[in-house]
Amino acid sequence: MKAPAFAYAKPRALAEVFALLERHGEGARILAGGQSLIPSLNMRLSSPEILVDIASLSSLKKVVVEEKILKIGALVTHSQIEKSEEVRKHAPLLAEAVTHIAHPAIRNRGTLGGSLALADPAAEYPACALALDAVFLLEGRKGERRVKACDFFKGLFETALKPGEVLTAVEFPIARPGDKSVFLELARRQGDYAIVGLAAFKGPETRFAFLNVGPTPVLAKRASRERSLEKARKALLGDLDPAADLYSSAEMKRHLAGVLLERAWNRLSI
Ligand code: FAD
Repeated sequence: MKAPAFAYAKPRALAEVFALLERHGEGARILAGGQSLIPSLNMRLSSPEILVDIASLSSLKKVVVEEKILKIGALVTHSQIEKSEEVRKHAPLLAEAVTHIAHPAIRNRGTLGGSLALADPAAEYPACALALDAVFLLEGRKGERRVKACDFFKGLFETALKPGEVLTAVEFPIARPGDKSVFLELARRQGDYAIVGLAAFKGPETRFAFLNVGPTPVLAKRASRERSLEKARKALLGDLDPAADLYSSAEMKRHLAGVLLERAWNRLSI
C-alpha cells in the first residue's frame, strides 16, 4: 500500500515548526527519522494533511555533556547513540539498549526523540528513560517545559506532549562512580521487538523499568525498593499487570519479567 497524499514542509528553525504546527493543528505531524511514521502512513493508519520534517534542525542533533547531565538532542539517531563515546561513558544503559533496536538500516535513520515521542510500550528507550530518571525537554510557542520520564508516558502511544510542542532533547543524569546498569530483553530473534525487556539501574536508588508489560513502560516501584531477590520477585507481581498479546499470555510475560529481574539482580550484585 502507498501513503495517502500529504503536503510536506522542511523548516529550518524551530519557530517555523511551531508556526506550521499551529497553522495546521491536528492535520500536521512531525517527521523525524520516519521509521515508524512512514510505515504507519503506508498502512493507512493515519492520514495527516502535512508532514513537518524537522531533519534540518541541527540544534536537535547534538550530544552534550553539561556538568552532571548528558543531554541528547531529539534528532540524534540510534546509530549515533550506538557509536557515541559520551553515551557509552556517561549513560552505558542506553549504549547497551540501542543494540536491541531493530536493524542497522532502521538505526541509521530512527531517532531518540521519535522513539520517545511515539511511546511504543515495546520500545527500548522509554524503559531506559524511566530507569535513568531522565528529563524530557518539550518546546512550543510559549517556551520550554521540563517533564520527568515518570510523568511523560501517559498511555498507549500517548505522552505529555501538548499540541504544537516538539520534544527537543532528553537529559540523562551522568553515571557516577559505583553506579551500575544492565539492559536485558527476551525476543524471538535479535532485532525483533521484545516479548519482555528490562532496563535496570543501581545507584543511590535502584530502578527496574520493564517494557512490553503494559500500555506504557512500567517502573516496578515495589520490586525496586526490596533488598532481597525473593522479596523483589514477589513484589514484582504487584507492580506488573501485563495483558496477553498475539504471541504471549499474561502469565508468560509475568514469568519472563521475573526471570529478567533475577538476571538483572545477579548482574548488578544487589
Ligand atoms: P518518526 O517515525 O519520524 O516519528 C514517530 C512519531 O513521533 C510520529 O508520530 C512523529 O510525529 C513523532 N515525533 C518524532 N519526533 C518528534 C519530536 N522530536 N517531537 C515530537 N514528536 C515527534 N523501535 C524500537 O524501539 N525497538 C525495536 O526493536 C524496533 N524495531 C523496529 C523494526 C522495524 C521493522 C521498524 C520499521 C521500526 C522499528 N522500531 C523499533 C521503531 C524505530 O526505532 C523508530 O525509529 C522509532 O520508533 C521512531 O523514530 P523516528 O525518528 O523514525 O520517528
